[in-house]
Amino acid sequence: MPITIHGKEYVTVAERVTAAHEELEKISIQTEVLRDEPVVIKATVETNKGTFTGISAANPAKSIEKQNPYEVAETSAVGRALGFAGFGSVESIASADEMIKAGADKEEKPQATSKQIGMIGLLGSELGWANTKLTAGAKKLFGVETLPELNIEQASEYITKLKEVKDKEETKEDSTACENCDADITGTTANNSLKKYGKMLCMACQLKENK
Ligand SMILES: [Zn+2]
Repeated sequence: MPITIHGKEYVTVAERVTAAHEELEKISIQTEVLRDEPVVIKATVETNKGTFTGISAANPAKSIEKQNPYEVAETSAVGRALGFAGFGSVESIASADEMIKAGADKEEKPQATSKQIGMIGLLGSELGWANTKLTAGAKKLFGVETLPELNIEQASEYITKLKEVKDKEETKEDSTACENCDADITGTTANNSLKKYGKMLCMACQLKENK
């Protein structure tokens, strides 16, 4: 299945190969190593519609490509040659594999600000959460190991979530029931009623007490 990256559709090299074999009467794919340091591979796709070539270099700065530079470069070269032959994305010759390899499927977001991290810490202490619990929560939601690893959007989402948790706990603490009629009353009403009448009453029951 094609994958969508930044609004464009990309097809994996495996899918391009399958499509080419299905559609073409004759196809041969050959690869050749042009250079070893860094690895550069040229792929030649011969079809009954013509001959197409693709060239790709492995990037030794990336660990997966450093481990398997020939395989990675070969896959990309074949993908590019098939792209030129009309198999794959119309908009782009790059394959889904290449885009993922380049990390283009992950949008880079700025890191969380120190103000956001401070806010998370503050909400955590208000909730009585230890730092380990705060970090565990961030890991569960966003897969990060430490709070500063959060990006700006994740941090703001986490702050919203923590505020929601805090609001819930406060509502729980604050609400209580009228001693006469069992209606839900707020903490403020309960406190005022305790002062005036010595018991926690709803507004309606307080009015009755006045009579
Ligand atoms: Zn009442």
